[in-house]
Amino acid sequence: MSNLIRLFLPDGKPTRFALCKECGTLKSADDVNSTAFAEYCCHCEECEALIPTGKAKWYGRWCDSCWSIRAAEKEKERFQKAEKIQSDGYHGPVWYPHCGYNDGFFDDVESLLDYLQDNLDEDGHKEGPRYAFAVNAISFVQIDCRAILENFDEPDDFDYELDGVQDLESAVEAFEAKNAELKRWDVDYSRAIILPEIVLEGEVEQ
Ligand SMILES: [Zn+2]
Ligand SMILES: [Zn+2]
Repeated sequence: MSNLIRLFLPDGKPTRFALCKECGTLKSADDVNSTAFAEYCCHCEECEALIPTGKAKWYGRWCDSCWSIRAAEKEKERFQKAEKIQSDGYHGPVWYPHCGYNDGFFDDVESLLDYLQDNLDEDGHKEGPRYAFAVNAISFVQIDCRAILENFDEPDDFDYELDGVQDLESAVEAFEAKNAELKRWDVDYSRAIILPEIVLEGEVEQ
């Protein structure tokens, strides 16, 4: 199934171009006889459902539901491969999948458990995995001195030696140290944090 209009020359010869009816993008193939091009423009590659214009950009080649299925499979795979750590043996930020709050990031296991407990349904249940992933907090103010020192607009073939390199390096180190608390959080899929059963069974102690 294709939503493409193939373009032909006035004499009826095929070109290597086609137009997508949905998004209006002109697609080209490597050669005139190929149909490989654009077959899936604005269509899900998996189930062939039409992806409305705009959404295709978000989900690449898959529709919402195929994307979710793939994401779920990928997550299951990640979980299976991950080292499993009981939550009382882990200290640090965590990421909880499929969670709308703060994109799923929590300062620590305790905050996540508080959140889960606050969001139990009336039967005292909470839908969601019984695990979170560890998060590595990484200082992102990192300056590559070598890159700075290689980035001068010196005259061609000009031989020179820089003075004060050590001073620059020390200054950069001090600067990095002052900003070391600025951190980015990277999900560490190699470590899964197993949450206590009590939360997901909903039998929360008062
Ligand atoms: Zn399209
Ligand atoms: Zn699909």
